[in-house]
Amino acid sequence: MTSVEKILTRVSANYWQGLNTADRYWRSLRLDVPVIPATIKNSDLSAADTDFDVLICGGTLGILLASALQSRGRSVCLLERGVLRGREQEWNISRCELMTFVAMGLLTEEELERAIVTQYNPARVGFHGGYELWVRDVLNIGVDPVYLLETLKQKFLGLGGKLIENIAFNGAEISADGVTVSAGELQIKCRLLIDAMGHFSPIARQARNGEKPQGVCLVVGSCAGGFPHNETGDLIYSFTNIMHKCQYFWEAFPARGGRTTYLFTYVDAESDRFSLEFLMSEYFRLLPQYQGVELDNIDFKRFLFGFFPAYRNSPLQLPWDRVLAVGDSSGSQSPVSFGGFGAMVRHLRRLTAGIGEALEIDALRKQDLALLQPYQPNISVTWLFQRTMSVKLDAKPNPNQINDLMSGVFQTMDKLGDEVLKPFLQDVVQFSSLSKTLPLVNPRLVLPLIPQLGVNPFIDWLGHYANLGLYSGLYPLGKSCAPLLEKLPPKQRYYYHRLLESWFYGSGSDFDNY
Ligand SMILES: Cc1cc2nc3c(=O)[nH]c(=O)nc-3n(C[C@H](O)[C@H](O)[C@H](O)COP(=O)(O)OP(=O)(O)OC[C@H]3O[C@@H](n4cnc5c(N)ncnc54)[C@H](O)[C@@H]3O)c2cc1C
Repeated sequence: MTSVEKILTRVSANYWQGLNTADRYWRSLRLDVPVIPATIKNSDLSAADTDFDVLICGGTLGILLASALQSRGRSVCLLERGVLRGREQEWNISRCELMTFVAMGLLTEEELERAIVTQYNPARVGFHGGYELWVRDVLNIGVDPVYLLETLKQKFLGLGGKLIENIAFNGAEISADGVTVSAGELQIKCRLLIDAMGHFSPIARQARNGEKPQGVCLVVGSCAGGFPHNETGDLIYSFTNIMHKCQYFWEAFPARGGRTTYLFTYVDAESDRFSLEFLMSEYFRLLPQYQGVELDNIDFKRFLFGFFPAYRNSPLQLPWDRVLAVGDSSGSQSPVSFGGFGAMVRHLRRLTAGIGEALEIDALRKQDLALLQPYQPNISVTWLFQRTMSVKLDAKPNPNQINDLMSGVFQTMDKLGDEVLKPFLQDVVQFSSLSKTLPLVNPRLVLPLIPQLGVNPFIDWLGHYANLGLYSGLYPLGKSCAPLLEKLPPKQRYYYHRLLESWFYGSGSDFDNY
């Protein structure tokens, strides 16, 4: 029995099994020839009368969109292969983002307060041998996924939504007039199929055609009691140099029933990368030093682990009519974030309005739906950040290189103030903040990266940076044309709205709206 197995099984054998399953997926991603599912097929037959406007497959984040669309008069069916229930571990988010639920009429203020189970301040950002800063009100709210999803589910059912549990999506045939979905013995006909089946969705895997992710974030951790201090948190913290060809980062915060601590790192999907079990053993080795407590004195309640594949080709635009991806399957959050719930909440209003309008005017061809998952330069610029925080297997960088760079960048952002720092920490990159920060970062921290990363990522980045500037300028311009463009015929108006949204979100301007 390995030391990791011993610690995990002491709480429950399920955690050890879960870690092995996650490791099997991670190993397969690195080593196996990908099996490409053939779940979506085009068909010449008519779907005849459709049962629903929308069928959403996958209930975790799917229920957010399902309840929003149903509340706006759409007929929605939600298909979940298990039981629709939130996970035990809280989702961390900022309050301003969470208010979306109230603004959209999905939760009352009382329900929102009940969903919030933890709240802390302040949070630290710090790097080994370098700079340390503290922020308030950033990702400091813990939401109870069980309560949130159950409340939304009851709303959805109360509004007449149809929920099918314990039946998995098997495949779908796309016709000119609808989609016929097979799930177990069922055949469900809808006008639009939404894939919310997460990172390993068969639809997303088919669309990606066996492509390997260009970046992966590995994360392991726990919620536990027995820590001497549990009032503040860490958003990102490091106290070691590069080791095992990666930089370890830590996150910690007060949680329901104890303190959550995560160890995470950014890697590529090369075959020689280590397993999640190894990362978990590193977590147990370093946790006492991180939190100042002996391992034997920590009272583990639950363990967490996972990995997030990130693809440059994101958000994913599906190559079929009448199918749209949302949540993790769409890859709509940045490659440096593991806040997929937060990303979905930020885009919920946009997706709800856009899908509603697409259904209204029957704009359901692939090119119409692609506009609902548009290119976002503010996400694409973060690819360079992902690269600078990861180490190639054959590279020999200065052991504190990543810490020095992070330290320099955060010190500069801290000097520039909250309006620069806070959006960045909440996964929103804006042109003005980036333009103020970069000239002030010491070039001695950046130049050594060029031979290591090559010039291409920098050239690529410059293109996204220029687009970020362009989008920031286009949004106010596009908005000022509203009196004229709102009079366009419905189809053109749909395109105008989607363009405006892509400039708004793609430039990170949505952050200023909170
Ligand atoms: C350790 C860890 C910590 C995290 N912390 C945070 C955080 O603090 N804040 C935050 O914003 N995010 C956080 N996240 C990310 C967040 O949990 C995910 O982004 C979110 O769960 C994604 O939801 P999803 O519905 O897109 O995918 P998933 O969570 O993968 O859910 C997919 C759903 O689809 C269902 N499904 C799959 N296949 C089928 C099928 N064939 N038929 C029908 N249904 C199917 C599954 O049962 C599941 O319910 C964290 C993730 C991890 C692993």
